[in-house]
Amino acid sequence: MRQVIIVGSGPAGYTAAIYAARANLQPLLIASSVDFGGELMKTTEVENFPGFPEAIMGPDLMMRMQQQAERFGTEIVYDDVTKLELSGDVKRVTVGEGTVHEARTIIYATGSAYRKLGLADEARLSGYGVSWCATCDGAFFKEKKVAVIGGGDSALEEATFLTRFADKVYLVHRRDSLRASAAMQDRAFADPKIEFLWNQEVAHVYGDERVAGIGLVSTVDGTETTLDVTGMFVAIGADPRTHLVHGQLDLTPEGTIAVEGRSSRTSIPGVFAAGDVIDPTYKQAATAAGSGVVAALDAEHYLAAQDDLQAAVQPAAATA
Ligand code: NAP
Repeated sequence: MRQVIIVGSGPAGYTAAIYAARANLQPLLIASSVDFGGELMKTTEVENFPGFPEAIMGPDLMMRMQQQAERFGTEIVYDDVTKLELSGDVKRVTVGEGTVHEARTIIYATGSAYRKLGLADEARLSGYGVSWCATCDGAFFKEKKVAVIGGGDSALEEATFLTRFADKVYLVHRRDSLRASAAMQDRAFADPKIEFLWNQEVAHVYGDERVAGIGLVSTVDGTETTLDVTGMFVAIGADPRTHLVHGQLDLTPEGTIAVEGRSSRTSIPGVFAAGDVIDPTYKQAATAAGSGVVAALDAEHYLAAQDDLQAAVQPAAATA
């Protein structure tokens, strides 16, 4: 049986692994079969992670975190968790076809999943002009017109990146002011290829085989217009990935996993959570990494306390 299993391979999971491995806990990290490395694998330049003054590409940063975790003895499994059994002293993690891993503690760091607009044609044309990842799909839109939906940092980052390929990028936002940081806003406003369409929501995605346009409706007066684009990038935020722990761990009203104060302790002893899955507010790579540190230290302290308790009980039992 393992001391600790970490579920998730974003900045929180890998940082927890680095700390747990350096504490000689020989962690097993379940990294997912396809989406390993988390959201930063789909990002271009990361300019705000400390220690990289010249910026670093998202996938490079994740590769370095993985190497650092492995250097200290983390074992990584590239498979998907299908079941978690968290109650009791032995926690069970089922992966892929049914292999079960057991551990005394779990660090749950599954991050968040992209939000969808919820339109039927958005799902139908996903991969055929509808995308959630400019880094992955931007190159398909060379000299084309595309729309990016959203008004946060993700939307502006996607829009700015897409100007490398597309002739024109429409930034469609449902309000008349952005949520994105000032630096991102300044960069996007200064880009001649980006045109802002304010107070607009997407009502339709047109096209038989591929996106051939989108229908917008004004949030001010309901006026409908059609935008002539061949790509739509949805960047409207993300929701915490909690489906594996529904009914087991307590959640907050925002849908994140509830933890005690500034700790990573969840509603089940021996189960700790870190990163975006507990964070409805900050959601940064650096805050996720810090949160991974907290989870590894909490797991370490929990295991030490359990061992102390057992050591105290055993001699007493022996003399009884
Ligand atoms: P976000 O900050 O939650 O912004 C989501 C945007 O999408 C908002 O503008 C929101 O509109 C809009 N939106 C939400 N649901 C919508 C819907 N159904 N239809 C139309 N629009 C909708 O999400 P994010 O941009 O993904 O950023 C998440 C976090 O990651 C933030 O903390 C951000 O700072 C961080 N981040 C940082 C970087 C970076 O620093 N390089 C890059 C990306 C993300 P309203 O404004 O009207 O609510």
